[in-house]
Amino acid sequence: MCGIIGVSNLPDAARATYLGLYALQHRGQESAGIVTIDDGGVPRTARGMGLVGDVVKESDLTHLTGTVAVGHTRYSTAGSSVLANAQPCLANYRAGPLALAHNGNLTNAPIIKRELVGQGAIFQSSSDSEVIVHLIARSRASTAEGQIRDALSRVEGAYSLVITVGRTLYCVVDPRGFRPLVLGRLGQGVIAASETCALDLIGATVLRELGPGEFVEITDGMIRDLAPLAKAPTAQRCVFELVYFARPDSRVFGESVDRVRRELGRQLAQEHPAPGAEVVFSVPDSANMMALGYADASGLKLEHGLIRNHYIGRTFINPTQALRVAKVRIKFNPVHEVISGRSVVVVDDSLVRGTTSKGLVQMIRAAGAREVHLRLASPPITGPCHYGIDTPNRSELIAANHTNEEIRQYLGVDSLGYLSLAGMLQAAGVRNSFCHACFSGHYPIVPDGELIDRRHDAPLAGSIA
Ligand code: AMP
Repeated sequence: MCGIIGVSNLPDAARATYLGLYALQHRGQESAGIVTIDDGGVPRTARGMGLVGDVVKESDLTHLTGTVAVGHTRYSTAGSSVLANAQPCLANYRAGPLALAHNGNLTNAPIIKRELVGQGAIFQSSSDSEVIVHLIARSRASTAEGQIRDALSRVEGAYSLVITVGRTLYCVVDPRGFRPLVLGRLGQGVIAASETCALDLIGATVLRELGPGEFVEITDGMIRDLAPLAKAPTAQRCVFELVYFARPDSRVFGESVDRVRRELGRQLAQEHPAPGAEVVFSVPDSANMMALGYADASGLKLEHGLIRNHYIGRTFINPTQALRVAKVRIKFNPVHEVISGRSVVVVDDSLVRGTTSKGLVQMIRAAGAREVHLRLASPPITGPCHYGIDTPNRSELIAANHTNEEIRQYLGVDSLGYLSLAGMLQAAGVRNSFCHACFSGHYPIVPDGELIDRRHDAPLAGSIA
């Protein structure tokens, strides 16, 4: 998953981009980068592995001159976690510098890449996003708009993109609208960002969210709507953005993430009450709003039973299972006074491998809980995501391979309750049509077979990558 931002016509575009990326840090913590284009059309870039604040220094911001910029925070879902894959991609092509930042996952990238490599193309990275750069550069269309359109007609899957061609900024969302992208204004400038929280930090006001297939061109802060991309049968907004990924202070897909999460918690309390329980608390921070909703609907007292260390990234960042287990302990500590001698309800947003919950339950029991009732504010995750969320392969997904009773025993809880699919969709809001493939197995686009098994690192068959 990734966070993206594009800026047009702001005096210090790099600083605005930097601030915006700070607010989008939760969407990707492996690498960060900014590309600016100065008034003479010269690009400058700062990219690196790590968090935005570590990668981009004050000296970089001074060096990154210009009123046009794109930025990116990356969490790899296609391609390995190396500097070569850090975005924005920057290329020199016939119409000047082209910079691109991508959020999403292309489901047919391996096929196209193999074809391009066969024709002699040289790829600098193993990320799927570079495929789009190549397709734009190879297009025979006469305008940048036409070239982008050409490229996007070839790719499938999830993409929200900010692209600069020279000093013009293009923003586009795939026809199903898997990933969010919102437009805002600050003075004479325009900012596009993955989430509204980035606009808030910059001080911009929200203009509108781009719908599925929307395509806009922004020159010197002037927005021009371009013809939308060919329509998909239905929108497929990613429900997991609302469940887990986006920040609760953002509005995503026209919904307040905070409102949705509270409602998920309320629905969960209705579907899975915990008779006899005395308190409810969240696995912070992602389930905080859900626990609020659960407390609200159940009448149980809301407590803070787990304290989270904020100086550590999300547990998924670790490549190995051994490290992940240790990190659960580094990340959370129970509050004995809240837990000891009580029957507790623990609310989490989702259960993926089960590693976090297993470690937490052990800690909660060791802190003296009499009973532990685990409640999950989303349904069992039974399949991987092919559209940009780092959900692991089926073999690692606990709910893909075990019954609820087996999971309950494995986690060591007295009861286990998952929100139903219908309950989740109801809470997420009826005005959107959602992709819920990881929960339901209904995949709106069936990916290239190679992508299904290939997670991050494996080189492409037949390629020199
Ligand atoms: P697990 O330990 O594998 O069951 O992971 C569950 C925890 O990871 C939950 O507390 C979620 O908040 C969090 N989580 C769920 N999906 C993701 C994801 N794609 N990336 C990072 N963390 C996630």
